[in-house]
Order: sequence, then structure tokens, then C-alpha cells
Amino acid sequence: MPQVFAWSDRECLDFMVEVRFGSWNTVGCPHCGTTGKHYWRPLQKRWKCAGCGSTFSVTSGTVFASRKLSLQTIIAGTLLWLNSAGGQPALELKRHLNVTYNTAYTLQHKLREALVRGYNQGPLAGDLEMDGAHQSGRRAAEKRGKPQGSRPVTSETPLEELSSILTQAGKQKAKRKGPPKGVVDPEYGRRLPEDRRIVMVVRQRSGKKGKGANGTRVAIAMAETATEAEGILATYAAIPESYLNTDSSPAYASVGKSFLAHRTVEHAKELSGPNGENNNQAEEYNWRYDRAEKGIYLNVEPKYMLDYACEVAFRSDTRRLPNGQQLRLALNVATNVGESRFWRGFTRGNHRSHELLHAGPRLAKASGPAKGRLPGLATRAPF
Ligand SMILES: [Zn+2]
Repeated sequence: MPQVFAWSDRECLDFMVEVRFGSWNTVGCPHCGTTGKHYWRPLQKRWKCAGCGSTFSVTSGTVFASRKLSLQTIIAGTLLWLNSAGGQPALELKRHLNVTYNTAYTLQHKLREALVRGYNQGPLAGDLEMDGAHQSGRRAAEKRGKPQGSRPVTSETPLEELSSILTQAGKQKAKRKGPPKGVVDPEYGRRLPEDRRIVMVVRQRSGKKGKGANGTRVAIAMAETATEAEGILATYAAIPESYLNTDSSPAYASVGKSFLAHRTVEHAKELSGPNGENNNQAEEYNWRYDRAEKGIYLNVEPKYMLDYACEVAFRSDTRRLPNGQQLRLALNVATNVGESRFWRGFTRGNHRSHELLHAGPRLAKASGPAKGRLPGLATRAPF
């Protein structure tokens, strides 16, 4: 049982002040930015700003603004979320904290949103690796109409079985209405399933043997193309100061020329080239994301994919830190990115309308029944 469950209200407050502001003497007013001691009002548990006179609490202007949860529940919830090393279902957190499912789900997503806006930022430099992994969208859709697996079709296949396979394929094809919607994969020329997205990852090697990567940036793309790779690297890599390591995908060929050097490994032949060419850290991230999506979150909608990808990046980068330090880091990010834009009023129907693709927001498919919409919130811009 984490120690935080035994903390008093005052200890929880002290902890939040420390992770957000550093100390009681360096409190920053979220309204005007004045940093200092301010006037603490113990009954209201709020400061009155010495600069502008407005009042604020330790969670004003953070993703937890207008909270109904106690500080203790927020701190404990964050810690329990981090302690589940591979990811944590909202159902598990609901049971640990004895809150409703929506409360646990929204708390986790506010932490993810903070990582999207406060952690997945800024260029990496040095020895970089990049890769793209196909995620989401049913694989079965690619195989549809083609006999697979345990029923290979050979010249010995009995006629009645063959006809049953063909009729099934025909029926499934007829069921699909309208033209196919997914984009065409530029490398293999196949049409991808409609919900398929590519998680593109840029990782920075730590340079220490056996220590892996120490910085990760992620972005979501519709396909692994040269345009997407260039855009993502322009955002997340200090190109003139860096080396690029990738697999032999054609997406990286032209942008690779702008780097100090571009090393490629041909995965069809080997995992690592004779001179250490590999993108194993990027692959390690892909495996991690894959396990989180398939083993824990089960069905990541494309519109929330970036959030989950950032969560996996944070977990991977902080994997060697003690959990107390992970907690401080996560709460520091969550209290310094401003208020939540995506999860305030979620249970009242204020849902994100767009997918956060790197190339720009894309209108997302509606999901779930619409709840009583607030007229002011529903029409807000996606960012
Ligand atoms: Zn102020």
C-alpha cells in the first residue's frame, strides 16, 4: 500500500506545492505570473496574489482545475497509475481508489494529456533512431477474402471446401459497402484498413552501453511516407547536429541526407548491421506500445492514440527511476501545462472531435452515444 494513503491533508498540500512551484516561497500566480510568497488563506486553502489580488489554489490553472477529488486521491491515483508498469486499465484504478469509472478514466486521461502537451515536446539531438509501426485497425480486414492460416488452398483441397471458402469471401466482399476508405501503404501498395494509423517514434540513444534510449518523441501518421517522416523529424530532431538510424523503409531515404549521417539496417536480412547499424531502441518502443494496446487498453481509438503513445514514451523513458521520482515528474508536467482542454466536462459530453495527427487535426469518427451536450463546449475548436 503506498505511503501516500497515510498522508495528512497538509502533507498532500506540501507535496503538491513542491512538485508544482518548488517551494512555498516560489509560488507562481496562474493569473499574472508573479512569483513569490503571496498571502495564504488557510481556511479557503487558497492564495491571494500579492501582484494582482486574484485568488488561486494549488490546482488552479492545471489539468486538475475545478477538481472534485481530494489532493490525496489525485496523488495516490497518479502513483498507482505509474506503478502499473505496462499501463493500467481505468477499471483497475476505479477499484483501487473506490471512485466511479468515469472519474478514474478522466484522471488517467488528464495525465496523458499533460504528457502530450508537456512531455512530447522539443527536438532530440545526437544519435537518433526512427521507426513507424502499424497500429489499430483490424488486421483481419487485410486478410478478408483470402484463405489464410489453417486452411491453405492447394490442388488437393476438396471441391466442396473450396467452394465454401470462396462463397464466404464473396459474401464478406458484398457486405462491404461503398469504396474502400483506408489510405494506400506507399511501401507495399496495399490499401490499409480504415482505422489503421502509424505510430512514428523518434528516440535518442543515451550513448551508454546497456542503458538504451533516454528520450522519446511520438507522432501519429496515416502512412509511413517521406512527407510524414520529414515533418516529424523537422519537429522532433535537431537535424544538423544528429545522426539518423532507421530500417530500410524508403520513407527515410531523402530526409536522411540532411543528417550528419544516415545508417540503415535491412530487417529482411538482419537485426543489426556489421557496424552496429540498428534501430533497436525504436523497435523496443514499438513492442512496448504494442503490448499496451493489445494487452491492456485493448481498443485504442485513433483519436486518442497520441495520448496512449505519449504515455508509453514516458513509461519507457522513466523506466529506471524510482516511483517517487516518476510521480514527481508526472505531477510536475500535469501542473505546468495549463488547464485540460480535452477532458474538462468529458462526462457532460464535451468530447474531443478531432484526431491529433502530426500533419494536422482530422475529424474523428463519432464514438459512443452523445450525452447532454453543453452548447458552449461542444463548438470549441479542437486545440
Ligand atoms: Zn497574480
